[in-house]
Amino acid sequence: MQKISKLGVLTSGGDAPGMNPCIRAVVRTGIYSGLNVVGIRKGYQGLIENDMYDMNPRSVSNILNLGGTILKTARCLPFRTDEGMETAYQNLKEQGIDALVVIGGDGTFTGALRFSKKYPDIKVMGVPGTIDNDLYGSTYTLGFDTATNTVVEAIDKIRDTADAHDRLFFIEVMGRDSGAIALRAGVCCGAEAILLPEKATAIDDLIENLRAGQHNKKSSSIVIVAEGDKNGGVYDIARRVQNEIKVYDIKVTILGHLQRGGSPSAFDRVLGSRLGYAAVKALLNGHTQKMVGLQANNIKITTLEEALTQHEFKLEQDLMEMADILSI
Ligand code: ATP
Repeated sequence: MQKISKLGVLTSGGDAPGMNPCIRAVVRTGIYSGLNVVGIRKGYQGLIENDMYDMNPRSVSNILNLGGTILKTARCLPFRTDEGMETAYQNLKEQGIDALVVIGGDGTFTGALRFSKKYPDIKVMGVPGTIDNDLYGSTYTLGFDTATNTVVEAIDKIRDTADAHDRLFFIEVMGRDSGAIALRAGVCCGAEAILLPEKATAIDDLIENLRAGQHNKKSSSIVIVAEGDKNGGVYDIARRVQNEIKVYDIKVTILGHLQRGGSPSAFDRVLGSRLGYAAVKALLNGHTQKMVGLQANNIKITTLEEALTQHEFKLEQDLMEMADILSI
């Protein structure tokens, strides 16, 4: 087994709360284990631009509570090309880096796997970091819990004003391909309806459901719409419903990027710490082209190949059915 001596760590793709606790764990576990650790700025862009710096335990002091990522992140087009990958490889060789921990989503893992197949002497380990909770191989991804809590806090506030005015609110939350945030937030906030990319909702059914709420003397209603719902966007849905239900005053709120920010929750701090620690241990034990994840509260190692090709239907169907019943 080829031993590793110098470890690089980067965050890539969309930022997610919990990335900082994970960086801290990677740096300190690496140094504790006798490795040199290098921080790479702006994801794969930092590899191509040679934007890297030596890290020590103090480089990651007081970051557990910070949202975003101290290493910055980027969506880097040149890394998709063979030339970009070759430049990244030459920079890594020049720095003497022989292993990488990459924290990000499926795009980040796709890049890591391609790169590592081309240059297998650089070991790679993925950590699932995305608020969307849509990766195979880990029940939870970094940032999902914090983002869901942020959404719940915002919707609670909207519910107060909706109730005061007898209003119907349509609230768009993040999730282009994943309804995970919408579903969990919907259960937490007692949403009258939850529209998701994974499950088609007919607008006629939605209208009927909202009319039933009105009939049952509900003073306000909340409909959560994930970005990726296929009904044509939150404004269009609200307009179609308003045409049919005149008694409610309908308002639309798009929560947008505030969902990505904020201090990581206790759950995401523990998850980030566990996954960062496990990623370094896995590399030291000779694993490569894999990701570390959490399954049934245990660390599980999955091949990147499997993580990228297994399209597990992750939506919690039981929560969907329960949410419908509990909001009557
Ligand atoms: P999120 O789930 O938050 O969007 P992500 O990791 O999926 O995170 P992407 O922007 O899709 O975010 O991917 C991050 C980066 O990974 C890209 O900017 C690019 O540098 C690299 N990447 C993605 N796909 C490939 C690919 N096919 N080949 C090489 N690199 C890739």
